[in-house]
Amino acid sequence: MNVHDSERLAGLLEDAGYVKADQGGDPDLVVFNTCAVRENADNKLYGNLGQLAPAKTRQRDMQIAVGGCLAQKDRETIVRKAPWVDVVFGTHNIGHLPALLERARVERKAQVEILESLETFPSTLPTRRESAYAAWVAISVGCNNTCTFCIVPALRGKEEDRRPGDVLAEVEALVGEGVIEVTLLGQNVNAYGSDLGDREAFSKLLRACGQIEGLERVRFTSPHPRDFTDDVIAAMAETPNVMHQLHMPLQSGSDTVLRAMKRSYRQERFLGIIKKVREAMPDAAISTDIIVGFPGETDEDFEQTMHVVREARFTNAFTFQYSKRPGTPAAEMADQVPKAVVQERYERLIALQEEISWGENKKQVGRTLEILVAEGEGKKDDKTDRLSGRAPDNRLVHFNPSLRGVDGKHSTRPAEPVRPGDVVTVEITYAAPHHLLAEGPALGVRRTRAGDAWEKRTAAPAAKPAGVMLGLPTIGAPAPQAAEPAGGCCSTD
Ligand code: SF4
Repeated sequence: MNVHDSERLAGLLEDAGYVKADQGGDPDLVVFNTCAVRENADNKLYGNLGQLAPAKTRQRDMQIAVGGCLAQKDRETIVRKAPWVDVVFGTHNIGHLPALLERARVERKAQVEILESLETFPSTLPTRRESAYAAWVAISVGCNNTCTFCIVPALRGKEEDRRPGDVLAEVEALVGEGVIEVTLLGQNVNAYGSDLGDREAFSKLLRACGQIEGLERVRFTSPHPRDFTDDVIAAMAETPNVMHQLHMPLQSGSDTVLRAMKRSYRQERFLGIIKKVREAMPDAAISTDIIVGFPGETDEDFEQTMHVVREARFTNAFTFQYSKRPGTPAAEMADQVPKAVVQERYERLIALQEEISWGENKKQVGRTLEILVAEGEGKKDDKTDRLSGRAPDNRLVHFNPSLRGVDGKHSTRPAEPVRPGDVVTVEITYAAPHHLLAEGPALGVRRTRAGDAWEKRTAAPAAKPAGVMLGLPTIGAPAPQAAEPAGGCCSTD
């Protein structure tokens, strides 16, 4: 959600005449879009702001804006601690950023504007999408749950659903621009429809996406085990362009801990969902989020989590060591688990999950898969002469872009370069815990509209000299393992 908000901020700024700054040098504007789900988000923000202070002294016209969840939470504290900040805006009014920057410039005074509820559904704002071939589409914002470790409801507010017609119109428009993969986005996508009085609205939305010609891959994140219903499983299984990939946050396998977390499903229900999904889609790749060391978690509770991990056989898991998020009920709980205990459990969980991830990936060896070529997903691609992309179930695949010859033996370079957005058919030859390799020549390359859109975008010259940094994280699935311990949330931020 945060990444998609950044795309909107970039779109708004471009519409207002800003252009992307070159790397290096002092930009005219720096915008921080903060995420309070991250551990130490405040320390990181103030550290970054401190580093910018000398640049602000050098270049008095430079502006600095801070938005997102941390700004919503800390408000005036930001300009008190870093008085060189020009604008502070919250999660509900990102559309006001250009006007606030202008007002700060004219009045020569910091502008702090935080709204308590959503003004416009953010998807109506201009968007500068980072990918030509894949796009996020928000179907709802906010969350009606009250998980005790999570800051989202306090900062993003109650769930508001977007009308299905508006969602589908956006998807159709994106497909018209060359996008072939969309990820439907919400804090709790399975609650979609509660606002509209239709409990099956989400499965209907998936089926409606299946009718959109040219849309090849539909994904969604994140579901909630409480609201995950059979009609969604049926829609996934029966709609050809809905991928057999599911991110189902577990958080804990212990009923006691789930109760303390205020997550209203129990272990049995969770495993029941996994079983039904696998019965309907034996090839489904299921991933999860797990928090280790939630306050009060005993050895027995943790063993319950290990049990679910063994049973569910997740493709991968985003594992987090519990750490307090100020403003959440769990941060006030008395029986916090000692760090050394959390660490030991965390390491055991990682070791188990790595073994399972590897085992599940090995089952892919020998399979023929269609890979949607990605941009920037293979860090070693240049050195290894490979390209990277995502399988239908979202596994990361590095592949050899040469083509098998007509005699089945010789390989040749494809006549035209393979582009991000094109689709390549490969045979998997090797599995690592977090990626697959297709070392032999590709079996086929399909040039797509998405590849054309990528090529067109890449060829377009920069509009004007650099002025603003529009740096965004890349779209696509996050890295399989969290790089650092952080707080968990249904939405992998
Ligand atoms: S963890 Fe997910 S479901 Fe729970 S409150 Fe946060 S956003 Fe809502």
